[in-house]
Amino acid sequence: MELNDKYGREFKTLRVSLLSTCNLGCVYCTMGTEEEETADHKPQTPAAVFVGHIARLHEQLDLKTVRFTGGEPLLYRELPGVIEGVKALGIGNIKMTSNAFLLDRMAPALKEAGLEYINVSLDAMDSDSFFAMTRRKQLQRTLKGIETALACGLDVKINSVMMKGKNDDQVLPLLEYAFSRNIRIRFLEVMAMGHLFGHAGQYLLSQDEILDTIATRYNFNKLERKSSSTANYWQTDEGHVFGIIANDTEPFCIDCNRLRLDAEGNIHGCLSDNHAILLDDYDTEEQLQQKLRMAMQQKQEVKFVGSEMSMMHIGG
Ligand code: SAM
Repeated sequence: MELNDKYGREFKTLRVSLLSTCNLGCVYCTMGTEEEETADHKPQTPAAVFVGHIARLHEQLDLKTVRFTGGEPLLYRELPGVIEGVKALGIGNIKMTSNAFLLDRMAPALKEAGLEYINVSLDAMDSDSFFAMTRRKQLQRTLKGIETALACGLDVKINSVMMKGKNDDQVLPLLEYAFSRNIRIRFLEVMAMGHLFGHAGQYLLSQDEILDTIATRYNFNKLERKSSSTANYWQTDEGHVFGIIANDTEPFCIDCNRLRLDAEGNIHGCLSDNHAILLDDYDTEEQLQQKLRMAMQQKQEVKFVGSEMSMMHIGG
């Protein structure tokens, strides 16, 4: 099926939110309420249902990448099974985004199941800042998870959301850690989502401000941006590469190729659009194609405009 819009955008990457609950309470994602903290008794959608949805989408879109996310995907009980199911569909790149809290014990099974790439969210290198960002104290668990993933041969990247007044002193410590472990790091500008909708500006540490901080220690040159990449990349004189995902100050909607599937079986064409489009096992091919066209129309032309829905529901 030919599905693209006037900018030539297609859906080639599917992000699958396996569940909308998490074991961390990151301040840009959750309110830290008791309700959120105890929400993990929600029934989980079975792996076979996810694989069925992904297979039908793959038939229509010829997907190149599936990324598992959430919520926290390592809390999804059938994670190895769902990875195996997607691998069997022949989709080239199987990736995951995780906080790595449970990765130390799960990495070998995930690698075995077919996972190749993992983006670990790590927003601080000291325990106090880590706590300020995640409302959790055990930074060491995330670091141990990263080490085990590397030892298993997983391709690890780090994502660090930067917030003014919270972890803006962590740019250089995070960079030093990533360089020392030879891991690619991307800093993220905070996005106006969920409870930050309408007032994320006060926390925005911009791409320019992040670069200014890095320039106090390194010389670097900008690399050419690859089409549909979320990040801009730079290389230091020593050969280390780092990236910035400038959601706010240098948006990249124009060649976004991402479609999202949430834990309730809805598809979303854009993070900026709260309107969920329910996929149903009984959709005819024509109905499914109609839904994909609706999702394509949700895409923004230029810029992410914010959303009242937190990333943990729609899938980060
Ligand atoms: N629990 C997993 C994790 O922590 O990586 C996966 C889900 S999390 C929602 C996925 C990504 O979304 C993380 O990299 C997180 O930092 C990012 N994220 C969530 N809310 C955000 C916001 N308001 N602004 C920028 N990034 C955000």
